[in-house]
Formats: sequence, structure tokens, C-alpha cells
Amino acid sequence: MTLLEQLKESSDGYAHLRAPVSEALQVADEGALLGDEYALQYLWQHQTFEGRPLQLVDGTTLEVVEPGRWNHADGPDFKDAILVIGGELRRGDVELHIRPADWDAHGHAKDPAYGNLVLHVTWSAAPPAKTLSCHVPSLALERIFPELRTFDATYFARPKDALGVEHPCLAHFKQAPLELDRLLVSAGYYRLMAKTNRFIESLHAENATQVFYEGLMATMGYSRNAEPFRRLAKEYPLSLLEPFSTKSRFAILSRSAGLLKEERRELWDLWWTSGIKPPLEPYVWDLRGTRPQNHPFRRLAGALGILHHLPKLLDLPLAELPEAIVEAADFLKEDVGSRTSLVGMKRAIVVTINLFVPYRLARGELTERQLHALPGEDLSMPMRETWMRLTGSERGLPKDGLRQQGLLQIYSDFCHNHRIVCATCPIAHG
Ligand code: SF4
Repeated sequence: MTLLEQLKESSDGYAHLRAPVSEALQVADEGALLGDEYALQYLWQHQTFEGRPLQLVDGTTLEVVEPGRWNHADGPDFKDAILVIGGELRRGDVELHIRPADWDAHGHAKDPAYGNLVLHVTWSAAPPAKTLSCHVPSLALERIFPELRTFDATYFARPKDALGVEHPCLAHFKQAPLELDRLLVSAGYYRLMAKTNRFIESLHAENATQVFYEGLMATMGYSRNAEPFRRLAKEYPLSLLEPFSTKSRFAILSRSAGLLKEERRELWDLWWTSGIKPPLEPYVWDLRGTRPQNHPFRRLAGALGILHHLPKLLDLPLAELPEAIVEAADFLKEDVGSRTSLVGMKRAIVVTINLFVPYRLARGELTERQLHALPGEDLSMPMRETWMRLTGSERGLPKDGLRQQGLLQIYSDFCHNHRIVCATCPIAHG
């Protein structure tokens, strides 16, 4: 039996649980799973305000009768909320952002879908949104939680249901703790198989390295700049960059993306001599609150360093890979003028799990034993939340990559899927 056949067999248990609700699973939106805005929405849905009175930015009292239906599609985050604002009953939609100005940045004022907004909820109180109608009241949660200096997603990852109400899966796994471990492993394999299938298709089409390059670029963009990074990889594919050195590739891509300043003469000249023209439509980068060490210019250099060393990295044992990725990413460190590493260990682990593992699995180069030793990522909110739901406690959170992948898969398929109801969830009743 080949490794891929073994993996498929190991993920069958989880696939079996997914089968009866597969239609509902099509809507799972992984892109929306991570990040502060999601944590804020979670807080609003569960109204975890610890009994603190709510007051709008202008001092008016607010009472939430119904937070509304969490909307995972386009439009306001919550539909049909029922609120009492200053003693007056209001029904309508609620939109949440970390900063008030995110409302302007997202261009919601021009979107008729936001026409029934009755409340704008943000973490910070200032600066105010410029394009928000003066008829829409604002609630700033930093005033409700004055003890938190900044928004802390992990603080709000302790939902009231995880602290108090038992989900049916919790009762189920209390009776069968070994079954929980089997589920996590099976769901982890399922997730890795899904990532691997992308590469299997690309191997058939003989463009696996291009698919790897696009995935790498998107990963280096993190959630905020994944799209412009992916666009860059598509518009400037490896076939176009092939004749150029890694440094020239960096010059071409950073100039084309609008990230290269003319003062960096050497790089600018490399781009100029390449003869490659900048795109007609400029790239848009989300640089809000970006620390200098996380600037896309540095991340692009890091991605190209990893690509430069790709053949060597593909030959390394998995356990050595994250450290080797950090080292490889520094290939252009001097050209960027950096004293610190261009890619940190945390990102290197994400790159290992999301790209190197599926790529090598597709090429049949890994063993099942190696997958059991996958390094774990930093524990994210979806991992913690799912574990709390399944076990009722934060104790024993899996530290290995395979089980963490399992938690993320269960989260996106079941716990975070608004079409799945706990009362009939196959995880607890399958
Ligand atoms: S959706 Fe399923 S796995 Fe998630 S909390 Fe509810 S019963 Fe548990």
C-alpha cells in the first residue's frame, strides 16, 4: 500500500463523519477563521461582557436583546439584531471592526447591503470613521474592558459556552477519551490529504513548483496581504523569472509590486536592466499597524530566499526543516539591510506544514511516522476553542502538528460552521 493510500485509510474515519453533512461543509470559510476581527465577532455573538454595562461612545446606554444572526457571507457581520439604545428599541444589522476607520477602508459606506445598520462595534474608540452615517451609533469595546491595553484575541477565546455550557461532544468523549485522540489524528490526516491533493493535481499538470511558489507567497502575506502576494506570483510566474538571479527576481517583484524605493539604487538598476515593466494596475498593500520587521518588502525577500534553497530544503528530514527555512529565508538579508531574520520560526513551521509536507506527500517522499512527529504551530484561537469544546478544559492541548491540524479541521467543518447544530452534530452523535 502506498503512503497516500495509507493516509486515505487513516482519514476515512473522519471522512465518514463528514459525509452526511457534506453539503453544509461546502460553506466553511477558512479564510475567516483566524484573526482579531473574527475574535471580535465571536465576542459579540456570545455577548461575553461579564455583566459589564454597555455604553455607546457618546454615553448612551445600550442593551442587547438579540445580537443578531452571524452572517458568514457578504454584508454586515450580524443581521437582524434587536437592541435597546437609550431606552428605544432598534432592529437591524451590526458591523464589527477593530478600528473605526476600518469602516472607511472597507468602503462599506458605498455598499447598499449596509443600509440597515443600527450599530457599529469597534475595539478602539478613535480615530472615528469618516464615512459612517451620523445616524449609526458606535460602541467601542476598549471602554468596556479598560484593563486591556490592546485587543487581545486570546482573552476573548474563552467563550461562555466553553466555560460553562457542555456541548454534546464533551459528554461523548468523557466516556471515550481514546476515541477523541483517534478522531484528532484522523481529522489531521484528512486535512493534510486535502492540502496534498492540490499538489497531486499540479504534479500531473507539471506545474508543481509554480503551485508551491504561489502557496509560499500567499503564506508570506499572512491573512492581510495574501491576495497581493498571490497575484504577484501569478502575474510574475517562475517561467518568467527563470533567467534571472534570485537578487534580480527580488528587484523585479518588489518594483512591480510597488514595494521598492528608488533610493535602493542597486536593486532599482537590476529591475531596470531586466526590461520587465511594472503592471498597469498597481498593487494595494494593507500596511495598517504593520511593524517594520513584518513589512511585505522583507517577507518577499524571505520567500525568494526559501525558493532559492528549495532543492536543498526538499531533501531535509522534517524535524530539521523549520530551522533550515529560517536560515534559507535570510539569503537576501543584506540586500534588504536587515539585522534580524527575515522569517521567524513560527512562520517557518506554518510553511513546513502547509507547503513542504503536502508537496512532499504528493511526491511520495514522507512516511506516516514522520507525520506523527510534525512540529506544532503556536496554539491559535480556533485550536483552543475546539479543544475546550471537546474536552471542557485547556489542559492537554495537543502540541504536535498532526492533532493541531485535526482541531482546525473540526473547527472549520463543524464548530465554526453555522449550518451545523451541536444537537445533531455527527462528532457527538455519529
Ligand atoms: S459542533 Fe460538534 S464538535 Fe463542535 S461543539 Fe458542537 S457538538 Fe462539539
